[in-house]
Amino acid sequence: MEKKIALLPGDGIGKEVMDGAVEILKAIEEHYYHRFHFQYGMIGGAAIDEMNSPLPQETLQMCRESDAVLLGSVGGPKWDKNPSHLRPEKGLLALRKELDLYANLRPVETVESLLDSSPLKREYVEGVDFMIVRELTGGLYFGKPSERNVKNGEHTVVDTLFYKRDEMERIIERAFQLAQDRKKKVTSVDKANVLESSRMWREVAEEVAMKFPDVELQHMLVDHAAMALIHNPKQFDVIVTENMFGDILSDEASMLTGSLGMLPSASLSATGLHLYEPVHGSAPDIAGEDKANPVAMILSTAMMLRHSFKMEEEAEAIENAVKHVLDSGKRTADLTRKGEKPFSTSELVEEIKAAL
Ligand code: ATP
Ligand code: MG
Repeated sequence: MEKKIALLPGDGIGKEVMDGAVEILKAIEEHYYHRFHFQYGMIGGAAIDEMNSPLPQETLQMCRESDAVLLGSVGGPKWDKNPSHLRPEKGLLALRKELDLYANLRPVETVESLLDSSPLKREYVEGVDFMIVRELTGGLYFGKPSERNVKNGEHTVVDTLFYKRDEMERIIERAFQLAQDRKKKVTSVDKANVLESSRMWREVAEEVAMKFPDVELQHMLVDHAAMALIHNPKQFDVIVTENMFGDILSDEASMLTGSLGMLPSASLSATGLHLYEPVHGSAPDIAGEDKANPVAMILSTAMMLRHSFKMEEEAEAIENAVKHVLDSGKRTADLTRKGEKPFSTSELVEEIKAAL
């Protein structure tokens, strides 16, 4: 059966790594006799420039009619001064909300041949294999009011951290389900010594844990978690946390693997329509130079094949091809060491395709 895939390249390196992902998907079509139907849509800065909206209605509609969505990345300095409704990031936030993509899965796995690319010592990062489960549709990113005020000459600002109990429950439950198929440990990260929302989060985690007697639950304060990710990352199996904490901890965790350009993610909904995107952003500092690491985007397509299309063998083939290429010493500039010649984005994609 033909699978409809919505492609939203977005801005900056998003476009470059998306090209790579499509190349790989076309190779999968050929080897495994699948039919993918690709449709391109505009989002972020590119959509603002062309259509004066960070998420045009037609993009949203196209996504709704697809079987899965692949996204590059949005944003860039060009739009930094725009009013808040014309910010590229608004497009992605709106898409997550509209499609109710509440569970963001971010696997963090170190690759043996890249251990020396991590800023941490080999013995700290060897064998690291955990999953960050970040809540994606609530918290500070969506709470109202979020505004600046001036009253009697005094400037004030407010952001609101808002959650419904159900939203906590569904994401924590998802984390426990994932842990059941892994090492059976959930670390719930919060700031329960300060925040009311975190105290409710902790209660909900305790409650959900009762339904999963075979899974161990550990609570950890977010500041401690930030330290533990560097000091002893091997202790983690599944980390579950709210939107903002998850954003921060996953950028930190990416460095265990050596580069932000290595981490894929899946954003899952309850409807069955899911979105896949690299953890990294649009990287304006290297955009347009054919230098970006395409691995995070390519591994995101593997996650799509696995979760949305149940193509486990195909997903593994991509993961193995990536590993093979990295193991043979081929890598982009973010991972090369002094004196090594980096591969360009397109060269690395070609290598991965050949390895498939
Ligand atoms: P966002 O706000 O969209 O999350 P960010 O502030 O986290 O973005 P990125 O755009 O992800 O920032 O870039 C952070 C740094 O990591 C930059 O120096 C960028 O060049 C580098 N980087 C990000 N992605 C890649 C990649 N795929 N390949 C190489 N370098 C990358
Ligand atoms: Mg970021």
